[in-house]
This record gives sequence, C-alpha cells and structure tokens, in this order.
Amino acid sequence: MFKKIRPSLFFFLYLFSLFSLELQADAHIFVYHRFGDARHPSTNTSISELRKEFNHFKKHGYKVIKLETLVSALQKNKEIPDNWILLTIDDNFKSFYTKGLPIFKEFGYPFTVFVYLEATARKYRDYTTFKQLREISKYGSLQFHSYKHAHMANISETSIRKDFDKGLALFQKEFGVRPKYFVYPYGEYNKKLEEITKEYGFEAVFNQNMGATTKGTNLFDIDRSALVGKPKLKTYLGFNELQEVKFLEPTQYPKNGILKRVKVKVSKNAKKAFVYIRGHGWKAVKVKNGIIDYKISKKIRGKRMKIGIQVGTKLKVKVFMAK
Ligand SMILES: [Zn+2]
Repeated sequence: MFKKIRPSLFFFLYLFSLFSLELQADAHIFVYHRFGDARHPSTNTSISELRKEFNHFKKHGYKVIKLETLVSALQKNKEIPDNWILLTIDDNFKSFYTKGLPIFKEFGYPFTVFVYLEATARKYRDYTTFKQLREISKYGSLQFHSYKHAHMANISETSIRKDFDKGLALFQKEFGVRPKYFVYPYGEYNKKLEEITKEYGFEAVFNQNMGATTKGTNLFDIDRSALVGKPKLKTYLGFNELQEVKFLEPTQYPKNGILKRVKVKVSKNAKKAFVYIRGHGWKAVKVKNGIIDYKISKKIRGKRMKIGIQVGTKLKVKVFMAK
C-alpha cells in the first residue's frame, strides 16, 4: 500500500517545485545606468523597480556575487553555477550615489561601477565626484569605462591609446589602483579595439549584449543585459549562452547599410531558431543541417548592427560596426 502512495507524493513534490523554483540558466550580468531619475527613461531604473528586481533575485535563490569571482572562475575554466548574478553600473551618475547605493547596501549586494573619468574630472552635472566614488568603492569595485566615452570603434588607434593612457593615469591617481576590467562605451567594439584592450593588460572586457556567461565564455567579449524601465527580467534570466555558433554572413557591416542575408552555422540538432536584428525585432526561422539561411532586405539604422541568434534557450548577439 505504501508503494501506491509514493508516486503521487513525488508528483506533488514535482508540482511544488515547479511553483516555487524558477528554472535557472547560466550566470547573468546586468547593467544599470541611472536610478530614480525619470528625466531619462531610456537609461533609468526606478527605485521601486530596483527593489522588485532585487526581491526577485532573493526569492528565487539567486546569488549576487562579485565580478572578480566570476572572472577568476572563467580564467580557471571552472564550471559556472546557474544561479550567479552580477550587477554592474555604467557611467558613474550621481543618482547611483544618492538613490541606488542605499538599496544595494540594504540588500548587501556587491557591484561594480565602470567609471567614465572625464565626466567626473570636469565636474559634469549629474555625475559623482571623485570623493563620492571613493566612498562608493567601500561597498563595491570601481573599474574602467574610458576617459572620454568616445565611439571607440570609429576613432583612430592613436586616439584610443591616448584615451587609455590619460584615463588609466587619472584612475590610478584618484583611486590608487590600476583597473582590471573594461566596458566598451556604448557597447561598440571591433577586433582592433579588442586587441588594444588586451595589449593594455585588461583581464576581462564587457559589452552590452543580451546574453549569458558560462564556462568557455570569451573573457574579452562578456555579455551584459541592460535593465532599464520595466525589463523582461525573467526572459533575461532564462538565457543560456549559445557558444556553438558561427556567422558565415554577414561578416561585416553591409557597405550600403542594407542587410540582405543572415547565414549562421549552429548545432546540427537544431530544428528551429530565432533571429534578432536590432531595430527590427525577432523572427522565427528554420534550421537545415545546422545552417540558418535567412534572406531579407533590412535597412540598418546607425553605425551599430546587432544580430542575435537564439536556439532553444541559448542566445548569442554579435555586433558589427560601420567603418
Ligand atoms: Zn557608458
């Protein structure tokens, strides 16, 4: 008789687990900009939304860890737990110091601020002072986001080096350490910029592409999803990193600005996929013998073309910059 009861008990436990646990997938790095500053909706996170997100992490068993912990695990090629979350803040806006930081302190969540040095050095309104940044560094880490916040994929190598030299010297002078991590301004980058960051000795470099991080992630192209407004947090948390992906076409930004074809090699077992084109949204596509071949005619707006490929829960976004 006991045996007859057991399956239903297991079934009950199974149902219970479905309701109480959220499916977890890979580590996720998020990026915030402004806090409680409704003047700038495209870069702002309200304080009530921030609390909601932090409560979600807490309730569903996520662990907010330091960026150093993730980078060190990636360097050692260790397995990356599915419940790791990393929080980064770009651009050292004053609203982080006045409104965001108290909430991070309340939850005890570590964070990393990527500093745009010129804004603080030249005392731009809306930005923290060096003194405030030093106070912030008692609770989280400060890293490098360039001196001038230029469109670095579109300036000369000499200008990039000049920016790095000036910014790194000032960083060292104000904070007494050399930063180890870098974030591309505007999430814009290309091979040349990536090579220069390696030459300058950065250990990890972060972009601003939706995605996830796991064992095997390229340390010089780490994905971060932006949390602004009312983001699709659960969708972001459900992404795994798509590593078995090779872009056959395009391999660069189209010369006339018209994207005609997306041809990508993915896993042989894949049957269907989604293609995301920035400014045009998502489209379901078929996969034949591990190849996506999507013929289109889309005008690309701006100098930054982003194409994402999603297979199952796995996603990879690639950036192509106009020259
Ligand atoms: Zn920035």
